[in-house]
Amino acid sequence: MTDPRPIIVWFRQDLRLADNPALHHAVESGRPLLPVYVLDDVTPGTWRAGGATRWWLHHSLTHLSAALERLGSPLLLLRGPGDAVIGDLAARVDAAEVVWNRCYEPFAIERDSRLKAALKGTVKVTSHKAALLNEPWEVLTGQGTPYKVFTPYWRACVAVTNPERPLPAPDRLSPCPNRPEGDALSDWALLPTRPDWAGGFRRTWAEGLGVGEAAATARLTQFLSEGAANYSAGRDVPGIDGTSRLSPHLHFGEISPRQVWHAAKRAGDRGSEAFKAQMDSFLREIGWREFCHSLLYHFPTLPERPLSPAFEAFPWTQDDKALAAWQRGQTGYPIVDAGMRQLWVTGWMHNRVRMIVGSLLVKHLLLPWQAGEDWFWDTLVDADLANNAAGWQWIGGCGADAAPYFRVFNPVLQGQKFDPDGRYVRHWVPELKHMPDKYIHAPWTAPPMVLRGAGVTLGRDYPAPIIDHALGRQRALDAFATIRGST
Ligand code: FAD
Repeated sequence: MTDPRPIIVWFRQDLRLADNPALHHAVESGRPLLPVYVLDDVTPGTWRAGGATRWWLHHSLTHLSAALERLGSPLLLLRGPGDAVIGDLAARVDAAEVVWNRCYEPFAIERDSRLKAALKGTVKVTSHKAALLNEPWEVLTGQGTPYKVFTPYWRACVAVTNPERPLPAPDRLSPCPNRPEGDALSDWALLPTRPDWAGGFRRTWAEGLGVGEAAATARLTQFLSEGAANYSAGRDVPGIDGTSRLSPHLHFGEISPRQVWHAAKRAGDRGSEAFKAQMDSFLREIGWREFCHSLLYHFPTLPERPLSPAFEAFPWTQDDKALAAWQRGQTGYPIVDAGMRQLWVTGWMHNRVRMIVGSLLVKHLLLPWQAGEDWFWDTLVDADLANNAAGWQWIGGCGADAAPYFRVFNPVLQGQKFDPDGRYVRHWVPELKHMPDKYIHAPWTAPPMVLRGAGVTLGRDYPAPIIDHALGRQRALDAFATIRGST
């Protein structure tokens, strides 16, 4: 190579070596390679990383740094606004090129566009598709507009999705000789200290299921060989390990949707017709992820504003006490409280329960969906702007393909249907663990003798319901009636 100038690989939500098109491109260029991660917790803005995200990031970067170091080119850690930091770095090391994998958050698109414009004519910039199977602009209706309903969107995707085989991880990287000094990961203080609320995170993830690329791959393999056979039914049962738990890995890009797609297809092709159908059902959820990202790309106000404009006038209430009871898992509805406590302790909540807790917040309690979105953003290890915003708008009845607002989940019936033996509730709400199955989802209906036998005094050991279901439901319907004509 006559021109020894380096290429900068800007890692963002692609914290992996395998099937990383930006990294692959950099290796193919034959240039010295400078891998960088930039923490931007200084630019003011609404969607700064929450506590759970920072916790996961610390561990994920630890794994990525170690892997890059083994290959010969350690990860440089820098802090500041991404575009300014990378622009300065490119000048400092006299980079020939900057390469990254694309992100779809509105602020990320703006940031990347700014950097592209700033480097134009001096440093080559290349970006790649790595976080999605299809770019949001690749799957459109016949009229060239974005899909707002999932089923036709996914049908269109399935017809065109034929992802190339995942790229291998490089086996050696050529280091950048004039690599500047960066931060130490510990300088960023991403882990909580006082108080250290992350004990459950450590047990669940760092010392349990694992964080990082190797853990993501192992998890996928384990899911395909164990949990996947009963996925369609099992995915609705929070008391069992019936889903892949890949969401944080997918969010941080520790595994790519293309890797997931090929592995699931391969497993499906090797299995029975019934197993193949389970794989299709699993890939459909990967499709929801694609759909949410497409929505965010085409409707960049998705995290803040209802997609359905009529909901701008919805008479939400403000009730800090009710919000706090919901956040702390003290609503008196066991399935809701179990979910909120699972979230607080582990940074993750089962999808079915996300829907139930969300429904209680926006319907029974009439609190705005954005309040739930904010809490999830701070507490989920898989907090993802697209999936979270679309999920909350769906619950709120104001999003694309949303459950109609007037369909109000009954938290007792949901509990009885999806956690019939109360296993999930007993685990997360141990004060109810001796309640018989019959009353576990509605302890206030139990005769005094049963409550006494289970060691539960309502209002002391466990709260009475924060609002009566029928009352809450009616209040929600009345509120909806005020905007109904305009939906
Ligand atoms: P699996 O059932 O194994 O699904 C595989 C993958 O498909 C998931 O890892 C995820 O990437 C994707 N997926 C599954 N369901 C959905 C869905 N409904 N929407 C979008 N993608 C989906 N998911 C997030 O990743 N981040 C979020 O911030 C988030 N917030 C949510 C908020 C609400 C109110 C709701 C109702 C859902 C939210 N979801 C979010 C979607 C879903 O709950 C999680 O993706 C899922 O529970 C993750 O568990 P899993 O990996 O075991 O899922």
